[in-house]
Amino acid sequence: RAAAAPQYLTALNPEQREAVETLDGPVLVLAGAGTGKTRVLTSRIAHILSTGRARPHEILSVTFTNKAAREMKHRLGQMLGQAVEGMPWLGTFHSIGGRILRYHAELVQLKSNFTVLDVDDQIRLLKQLLQAENIDDKRWPARMLAGLIDGWKNRGLTPSQVPAGEAAVFGNGKGGKLYATYQERLKILNAADFGDLLLEDIRLFREHPDVLRQYQQRFKYILVDEYQDTNVAQYLWLRLLAQAPSKQMVPGPGVVQQPADEGLDAPTLTVAAPKNICCVGDDDQSIYGWRGAEVDNILRFEHDFPGAKVIRLERNYRSTGHILAAASHLIAYNEGRLGKTLRTEDEDGEKVTVTGAWDSEEEARGIGEEIEQLQRAGQKLNEIAILVRASFQMREFEDRFVTLGLNYRVIGGPRFYERAEVRDALAYLRVINSPADDLAFERIVNTPKRGLGDATVQMLHDIARKRRIPLTEAARSVIETDELKPRARGSLRDVMTNFDRWRSQRDIVSHTQLAEIVLDESGYTEMWQKDRSADAAGRLENLKELVRSMEEFENLQGFLEHISLVMDREGNADDDAVSLMTLHSAKGLEFDNVFLPGWEEGLFPSQRTLDEQGRAGLEEERRLAHVGITRARKRAMLYFATNRRIHGSWTTTIPSRFLDELPTANVQITESKGGSGWGGSGGYGTSRFDNVESFGSTYTTPGWQRAQANRARNGGSGFDETGARYDSSSRSSSSFNRKATVIEGE
Ligand code: ATP
Ligand code: MG
Repeated sequence: RAAAAPQYLTALNPEQREAVETLDGPVLVLAGAGTGKTRVLTSRIAHILSTGRARPHEILSVTFTNKAAREMKHRLGQMLGQAVEGMPWLGTFHSIGGRILRYHAELVQLKSNFTVLDVDDQIRLLKQLLQAENIDDKRWPARMLAGLIDGWKNRGLTPSQVPAGEAAVFGNGKGGKLYATYQERLKILNAADFGDLLLEDIRLFREHPDVLRQYQQRFKYILVDEYQDTNVAQYLWLRLLAQAPSKQMVPGPGVVQQPADEGLDAPTLTVAAPKNICCVGDDDQSIYGWRGAEVDNILRFEHDFPGAKVIRLERNYRSTGHILAAASHLIAYNEGRLGKTLRTEDEDGEKVTVTGAWDSEEEARGIGEEIEQLQRAGQKLNEIAILVRASFQMREFEDRFVTLGLNYRVIGGPRFYERAEVRDALAYLRVINSPADDLAFERIVNTPKRGLGDATVQMLHDIARKRRIPLTEAARSVIETDELKPRARGSLRDVMTNFDRWRSQRDIVSHTQLAEIVLDESGYTEMWQKDRSADAAGRLENLKELVRSMEEFENLQGFLEHISLVMDREGNADDDAVSLMTLHSAKGLEFDNVFLPGWEEGLFPSQRTLDEQGRAGLEEERRLAHVGITRARKRAMLYFATNRRIHGSWTTTIPSRFLDELPTANVQITESKGGSGWGGSGGYGTSRFDNVESFGSTYTTPGWQRAQANRARNGGSGFDETGARYDSSSRSSSSFNRKATVIEGE
């Protein structure tokens, strides 16, 4: 008799075990949230290693975030009873793609020490190109081009493959040409952008079949988590690597090459001996369509890998009965689904709660109190998460946590006050408050651009150092001389005059008004208004939110002191802390307690998807809601605020249609704790109660009626995607080799 099966196998149910033990040939695990897909992948690696079928460096394993890769490695160590040494090919698509690219950089006209550009570098480069082409950057912003190029790269399109119609949308038909020039410039600069980390691999593999074969031979097993969110480029990359190496299949040098423009629709060369590839995913959790992900990749899998074994897992091990029932009922409103069953053998547990708050402040206060209560009941902060639809929502919670002294961490992006646009705005206010704040002055002296380049700043620094004075004083002295060129001198004088005027207004207008004046007169808001990139709307929202946050303080000084306190809280990664993140960043994670604030029409679902024709956007929002609820093990707590400040003015909101779509049997409507500090049934409390009741009555209103009312009221305005990756620094290429710790939703 064979020895008893190892624990990592006996801990699995029969379907999971089949997925782990079917090591030969393609396997697709198509299963709902919390059914153990990620656990299957990890167990599968453990099985491959412990049966000696492959060594660590022969396994290619793709996770959605760097954090998930670290987590998987950690679990693997636990399963095997010893730390796993060297899994060089365990990581995100981009980190692995980048690694391959470095090894063969010369073959795609790069050097192995190429730099990965962040978004700012990318924009700067594109601006130069626009200038050289005499294209008006105001009419055709570089950021828009960056967005287009990014989109093309996500779809695996090289410059020659971009459909003419699409290339024409930018710069009077010059889009395609600019893309080509941009790629040439990158080569000259020995640089790659984020998209190149995969696209250049694909080119490499196509132009150098010998290199491709080398990897095909090396990777005996390929595993992919969160498969539903792969984009076309990632799919093409995988498909190339997953073909069995064979002479007939891949032409050697000098033999007929595959046509350079082979795209997704080109016939697969052959899958005579398909590789041992195992992908796991859930179509109901596909939430990156706006970034080019194609859930069709799931359907394509069976086509490209005929004979693939498709395994379905139906038992959810994560959530209690009520939570699972609520999430399943909600997602059933989507039409475009493959459909699946989910069951739990867990007890029903607590019902999903829905709480109405008067406004977002009360919402934050209420959640703060709930958290303290959970803490008193012995819950670890690590088991508490707040998942927001839009990043600007985080601000209120961060402020609240600082006040309460609760540890928190922001996952998948910068904290609110660390966002580039927020820091810029703060820098203006800091200079007004303290003219000697050199760091702040330097940050904004040329933001927005006013012709005060590096040379000018350097000159100011020299003067300041020599005379031991702050930069602003150096600036003041230099505008009286002719050391600067007339244009720069004029600009600098304008800046200084502006600051003088703003400072003199400090005693006349409120500090929030002052902030509005400054953002307006400095041209800073306008800079983002003119920006047509995907993240500009989110940045404008953040600026509005920043001004709003100032209302809670008496004056500018008090506000800035508060900010320095918030910024000071670095926190240790191991500390017990509440997790704050966007829904997009929460994929694959789980927590005992999950708070889901902001379930209002226009915020969640976002206004953009409400304004859109067709259901695609709305269905993606619903999947996002489904992802949110299914993160919870024991408690899912949904909130909506009846009043929210949108675009600077208060709006009465309508509870999200997704709340209507929850099954009454699994949901409990509760009262916000946030108002209790205001004196029971007093004015504030009464309205709060009213609004909970009114929620009860709208609960039966058909969603479409409310949507129409909402559309009529809110016009075209709305929130934008401010989810994981497009947030300023989280997008900056860097999951590869920079700032790796904050990049989660790459
Ligand atoms: P998601 O779709 O959200 O990524 P998933 O399908 O990847 O979810 P996992 O995260 O792998 O699910 O598993 C969910 C939880 O259930 C984890 O805590 C995991 O350890 C647990 N789990 C999975 N399978 C089993 C099992 N057979 N026995 C006990 N616990 C299990
Ligand atoms: Mg998972």
